[in-house]
Amino acid sequence: MNDSMHDTAMTPVFPGSEDAAGQRATLGVMGGGQLGRMFVHAAQRLGYFTAVLEPDPQSPAGLVSHHHIQTDYDDPAGLAQLAQLCQAITTEFENVPAQALQTLALTRPVAPSAAVVGIAQNRIEEKAHFMACADVSGVTCAPYAVIETPAQLQAVQDERADLLPGILKTARLGYDGKGQVRVGTADELAAAWAELGGVACVMEKMLPLTAECSVLVARGWDGQVVSFAPQRNVHVDGILAVTHAYEGNMPPALATRAREAAVSIAHHLGYVGVLCVEFFVVDDGSEHGGLVVNEMAPRPHNSGHYTLDACDASQFDLQVHAMAGLPLPQPRQHSPAIMLNLLGDVWFDASGQRREPDWSPVLSLPGMHLHLYGKLQARAGRKMGHLTITGPDVENVKTVARRAAGLLGLPGLDDI
Ligand code: ATP
Ligand code: MG
Repeated sequence: MNDSMHDTAMTPVFPGSEDAAGQRATLGVMGGGQLGRMFVHAAQRLGYFTAVLEPDPQSPAGLVSHHHIQTDYDDPAGLAQLAQLCQAITTEFENVPAQALQTLALTRPVAPSAAVVGIAQNRIEEKAHFMACADVSGVTCAPYAVIETPAQLQAVQDERADLLPGILKTARLGYDGKGQVRVGTADELAAAWAELGGVACVMEKMLPLTAECSVLVARGWDGQVVSFAPQRNVHVDGILAVTHAYEGNMPPALATRAREAAVSIAHHLGYVGVLCVEFFVVDDGSEHGGLVVNEMAPRPHNSGHYTLDACDASQFDLQVHAMAGLPLPQPRQHSPAIMLNLLGDVWFDASGQRREPDWSPVLSLPGMHLHLYGKLQARAGRKMGHLTITGPDVENVKTVARRAAGLLGLPGLDDI
């Protein structure tokens, strides 16, 4: 798996084609969230039929797909139906049971593979992978220790004072800052591990971040790779709030290093599909700061949504191309862009009263692209949609983004 020599050719599934049984070319996705919805839109625009496996009858992707299989992700009958309908299958969330992808792969091309999704699902394996390819990628992760047993906890308390202050993160099922506890002392570490239920964790040193960025890579069955320039990301309360996607969003030398590192991580995994690698920029006393790899998502990523409006091929287009065995064109960004996430908070006023956001002044702004995911219930912290602002130059995009943020009360733009 870790050797691109093992890459296998795949017979392309062309859009609009029919197989011997007269079945139209259909692409499938595990999961029905907004990433699945945008995948479905991209696949349909090319002329594919689509199938979504997702238990929620009102899911963002299920609502727009030709086929919606409403079963659990590991339901044998649902998986059999998906495999029967589709010529190639992908996933839109990393916590899909790896076993389900393995089952599908018995009869259909599945990208990314169960093996790489399994690595991305587990911070311990993920970090081990990053360290294993650090020589080639040129980046390491933050100093860390694995805590799976009381003895390991004790050893970290006794011998790894260098990790304090730090963050204890569950190995599995963390997202948007969930499953994480910040700890300042050895005693707090023990309390935090108990609070997280004594599950497998990594204890990570808290680093002095000056910025965060991510890189999207698409890699085909034949090992061909294309990538986007790094995005700079601003998180608020552990959730992505703003993505800055334009030249000069970070020092060029760091951007080049991040992009090369992401590509070599994808190669080392023998990855097929779209991969997002997240990085920290840390103050290490050097001119531009140091680069540290944080985590990866085996799918398109929130920080890549700007590619829909600012690039000639989006991360979802490339996901479709990669899984279906189509050529991967190098994407070109044609406009500077800023992406602002729309969380459910926007649907509530200061007194907690539910309201419809006032879209009219927002939609009158030039270069404004509103994306809503079709979620029926707004909740605080829930990703309901996003805005991408494109424009002729960076200053223009920043001005419009500030105006939109002011109109809707969106956070994270204080630094521009
Ligand atoms: P995601 O939604 O990206 O999956 P997550 O819950 O998996 O998030 P991380 O990406 O590990 O969690 O951490 C969330 C945020 O917390 C990071 O984007 C960063 O702002 C901060 N953070 C995490 N680890 C560190 C660290 N070692 N030092 C400093 N800040 C950190
Ligand atoms: Mg993250």
